[in-house]
Amino acid sequence: MAKTSSKCGACGNEMTFRYRSMPEWNIEGDLCGACYSQKLTEHYIAPDRRDVTKR
Ligand SMILES: [Zn+2]
Repeated sequence: MAKTSSKCGACGNEMTFRYRSMPEWNIEGDLCGACYSQKLTEHYIAPDRRDVTKR
């Protein structure tokens, strides 16, 4: 409980608010708000886009 400052698993910045990362993102620990929203966007947009652009 003593550890209040933790760092983002993606960018390494200290998180003021931590978000839980999804298992499929392969990120250890939690994420800061910026990385979380970015990962969310990638998670929902990337698979479709990649399929479309590669074909
Ligand atoms: Zn981050």
